[in-house]
Amino acid sequence: MSAGILLGCIADDFTGATDLANNLVRAGMRVVQTIGVPRGPLNDDVDAVVVALKSRTLPAAEAVSQSLQALRWLRSQGARQIYFKYCSTFDSLPTGNIGPVIDALMDAMDCDFTIATPAFPDNHRTVFKGYLFAGDVLLNESGMQNHPLTPMTDPNLVRVLQAQTHRKVGLIDYAVVAQGETAIRERIAALKAEGASIAIVDAVSNDDLLRLGPALADMPLVTAGSGVAIALPANFGLRPASDTAALPPATGLRAIVSGSCSAATNAQVVHFIAAGHPALAIDPLRIAAGEDICAEALAWAGSHIGGGPVLLYSTAEPAAIKAVQGRLGVEQAGSMVEQTLAAIARGLVEMGVRQLVVAGGETSGACVHSLQIGQLRIGGQIDPGVPWCHATPPLAPQGLHIALKSGNFGSRDFFTSAFTRLRT
Ligand code: ADP
Repeated sequence: MSAGILLGCIADDFTGATDLANNLVRAGMRVVQTIGVPRGPLNDDVDAVVVALKSRTLPAAEAVSQSLQALRWLRSQGARQIYFKYCSTFDSLPTGNIGPVIDALMDAMDCDFTIATPAFPDNHRTVFKGYLFAGDVLLNESGMQNHPLTPMTDPNLVRVLQAQTHRKVGLIDYAVVAQGETAIRERIAALKAEGASIAIVDAVSNDDLLRLGPALADMPLVTAGSGVAIALPANFGLRPASDTAALPPATGLRAIVSGSCSAATNAQVVHFIAAGHPALAIDPLRIAAGEDICAEALAWAGSHIGGGPVLLYSTAEPAAIKAVQGRLGVEQAGSMVEQTLAAIARGLVEMGVRQLVVAGGETSGACVHSLQIGQLRIGGQIDPGVPWCHATPPLAPQGLHIALKSGNFGSRDFFTSAFTRLRT
């Protein structure tokens, strides 16, 4: 290992961690994402590590404890700056977890000031006068007001965060950000003098984030969505470079496992089949009936995979899913399908698959778990938010290329174009 990592990141969910890692790679850092807090050393010499937690909707005390554990590990790796990453829609409850985790990290780091901004203009999340917009509408008109776990009914982030922390929350507004580093630093000094120790920051474009970046160079803790990441590598003298995304050459067989039922994934499945590639549908009702769907699917894959990528999918249209959920229950159907797809992914790797695409956030979590993947080196972006990754799990110690696509990401031809992006 070298002198240590530059940036240590704590992400409150798995696909959010990948999103952040992807932005850091594009801005010039070599990045590893870990699944939870690692028990051992890093496999790669990198500039940044993103520890992926699943703490967004845990009870606040548990989220705090996991985040502090991640902090301790990142500091043990030499991290010079810490980045707490949350969702670009600021997903949280009045009880947290964004505020409590920021408070705990600031206490542990003895940090007197930090920023908080979910702005991610590339993904249409912008903050103006402290109000968060998703696309063209305020957060509370975007559908997020109806989110099943973290309904967001107030778009004013100063108010939202103030309700979650005992520290005073202020605002660095657009007029200040537009003037650049010196004005931002002056505003921070003024806020500190007023007793504030956290500032929501406006940003409506990547240029705003790039103006903000230099003012964060000496801030021990940054808290944000993944947008701010585009501006941090430059503070360490790093510039975008193609070799930061370099992964070992790809080998082996190719397969796709899809448990996502999002509209984009449905279109990708249709496109793959229409292009004449082999695909096998997995029927949840047959799993529920106790049939050995995994063995059947692997036998089918074995006889088709020699000719190119194969697709194994439970992806279905909303009406079909509702029918299955009506028979089996929502949670039961979900976890049963996830477990089956995860077992199939494992079997595929045992068969020699070394280039694997997984579609679906929860499905990805289940597959990564069953493959016992602890660390992912982040490679080049296939489509916005979805990079190829490289891991060395016990079943493939020489290396496995894996792409984890959350629901609505990716172009229609993702299941074929992904493989053409890999260097062999
Ligand atoms: P996304 O990222 O698109 O939300 P996820 O994998 O996170 O995808 O979630 C999809 C959920 O739907 C998973 O729990 C999966 O097991 C479940 N699922 C997949 N296919 C079916 C199906 N045919 N019927 C019912 N549930 C399904």
